[in-house]
Amino acid sequence: MRIAFLGPPGAGKGTQARELAREWGVPQIATGDILRSAAAAGTPLGREAARIMATGALVPDDVIMGLIGDRLRQPDAARGSIFDGFPRTIGQAEALEKLLKERGEALDVVLFFAVSEAELLRRLTGRRVCRTCGETFHVASQPPQRAGVCDTCGGELHQREDDSEATVRRRLEVYSRQTEPLLALYESRGLLRRVHGEGAIDGIRAELKRATEAVAGRGGAAR
Ligand code: AMP
Repeated sequence: MRIAFLGPPGAGKGTQARELAREWGVPQIATGDILRSAAAAGTPLGREAARIMATGALVPDDVIMGLIGDRLRQPDAARGSIFDGFPRTIGQAEALEKLLKERGEALDVVLFFAVSEAELLRRLTGRRVCRTCGETFHVASQPPQRAGVCDTCGGELHQREDDSEATVRRRLEVYSRQTEPLLALYESRGLLRRVHGEGAIDGIRAELKRATEAVAGRGGAAR
């Protein structure tokens, strides 16, 4: 299965992608995570990406497609993948379609996470992320057992620089201008499924699984 998780920042794509990827044994390909690793490693690409990410804008399509091309060449991506936070522009969606076609592959389904703006703001500004394993928490609705410490690995929790309220508002604007048009594109391709992204994490996961299993049951996308 090749699945893309589409939705605004804070919709829960990362949390669900991590779980499902683990369960299905396919890689979670999260462009935001790849960019943050490059930034932490201090590579020239990482430094440039960090500067753009801090403003809430998008990294250029050619940079993102270079990263995706490299990632798809790794052997674990042969079995399938969950694209998380990618594609984010019409240009990326078209480039992905071409790239997959060259490999004899195609997206099977695009899952859209619908969440209200007020809920997105609440989630993002209260989000805390483990520096070591990437697990996410929320100061109010999903606090760690010990403040500032990851329940999973004991790593240090921190607030992402781009989760400040001003940058979150900018990211939501960028989402509605550059990413929301993908809904109509994937709807027209017959690939879009909507998932109600509010409520309990387990309930959302069950809905996602139903949506993907319905596609898998039909043998995936026509190639
Ligand atoms: P995320 O972790 O998905 O919220 O992404 C954090 C930031 O990384 C975004 O605000 C963008 O600056 C950048 N980014 C992540 N994925 C993409 C993408 N597919 N296209 C362009 N920029 C991206």
